[in-house]
Amino acid sequence: MSTLFTKIINREIPASIVYETEKVIAFNDINPQAPVHVLVVPKKEIPTLNDIETIDCEYLMEMYKAIKEITRDLKIAEDGYRVITNCNTHGGQEVFHLHFHILGGKALGSMVSSK
Ligand code: AMP
Repeated sequence: MSTLFTKIINREIPASIVYETEKVIAFNDINPQAPVHVLVVPKKEIPTLNDIETIDCEYLMEMYKAIKEITRDLKIAEDGYRVITNCNTHGGQEVFHLHFHILGGKALGSMVSSK
């Protein structure tokens, strides 16, 4: 069964798409945690960071290229932003299709609670 993000890639469910290439798509998070919250997703169903293989390197390069272009276009590159990937249970991963969260548009504070 295809993932939620593959359904977005295939236009089976709607999303606010901000960037797309042959290998990568990016869209606004439906539940934003910052003024800018964009998800960058490879057009290949890699479930988690643990599943990345050498053969996936072109997808990863395209994802970083997407981050550079999206943050420049949304004018948050200079002030800065945060990129997060959640992995499995302790990481709080909800959608098992690899993605980077781009968060920005304000000062984000410390990275995680020390508790
Ligand atoms: P993660 O917890 O890292 O797996 O993040 C999954 C993210 O997907 C969450 O931030 C959700 O708000 C987001 N999300 C879930 N469904 C959608 C959707 N239909 N469109 C956009 N973002 C979504």
